[in-house]
Amino acid sequence: MKDLRTIRIFLSALFLTASVAYLCIGSEVNPMAQISMRAQIIPSALAATVGITLFWLAVTFFFGRMYCSTVCPVGALQDTAAWFRRRILKRKGDFSYKPRANVRLYVLAVYAIALPIGLIWLSALVEPWNILKSAARLTNPELRVTPGLAFAGNAVAGGLVGLLSLICVWIWALAKGRRFCSHICPIGTFLESIAEHSLYQIRIDPDKCTSCMACERNCKSEAIKVSERFVDNGRCVRCFDCHKVCPEDAIRLRRRFKRPATPEALRT
Ligand code: SF4
Ligand code: SF4
Repeated sequence: MKDLRTIRIFLSALFLTASVAYLCIGSEVNPMAQISMRAQIIPSALAATVGITLFWLAVTFFFGRMYCSTVCPVGALQDTAAWFRRRILKRKGDFSYKPRANVRLYVLAVYAIALPIGLIWLSALVEPWNILKSAARLTNPELRVTPGLAFAGNAVAGGLVGLLSLICVWIWALAKGRRFCSHICPIGTFLESIAEHSLYQIRIDPDKCTSCMACERNCKSEAIKVSERFVDNGRCVRCFDCHKVCPEDAIRLRRRFKRPATPEALRT
């Protein structure tokens, strides 16, 4: 699973670079950069590119919220805050399990109502791709934006709204990890409902776990409760950091219906 973490970090860095290049400079920078846009859920859904949307629904059903840890540009940006927190501020391992917050449902409900009635400006505040797209208008005023996106006619004002959103998300991530993903992002909340039933889930092996708490303290989604050997797979963004820090190789991606190993005490 350490290989999976390396692959996911590589993909995340690649898609973030491609997204920034595509939006801030334009597709002429490299036609391949367009992939970053085509891989996104909301632009694909709005363009009725059903294939991409179905692809991500299937990936989430099988493996959980891989979208959040690979192609989402705001997810990758929050990971840079996590890196800064760990490597520069030398703060690590002080997360703990939190129950799900209802605010995510309210945001999703407002977003689902706002989009069809044309209140697209909300996207520049809560939806990852459009947050980045709005901010990119500061360097690329020619960028075509959806009519109705925050200050669509005024690139500087729209850009400042997007940039402010990005800065808020980054600072929040520095302090509280992936709270934006679990409290605000409407895509995250939607994927959560599929991911909690995914075929492969992050599980703690009770036979190996020594309750050292390393995984819970390092889970930036605050999704692990070691005392109950519980992982909230709806909230987990599949960063695989828990597996990296576990000294016993006790937490990993496992098939959901596989029978857990028998506890040592009962094997007689
Ligand atoms: S449970 Fe593990 S893989 Fe999921 S978000 Fe937390 S640390 Fe990352
Ligand atoms: S890091 Fe591993 S051993 Fe420690 S509490 Fe988590 S699963 Fe158990």
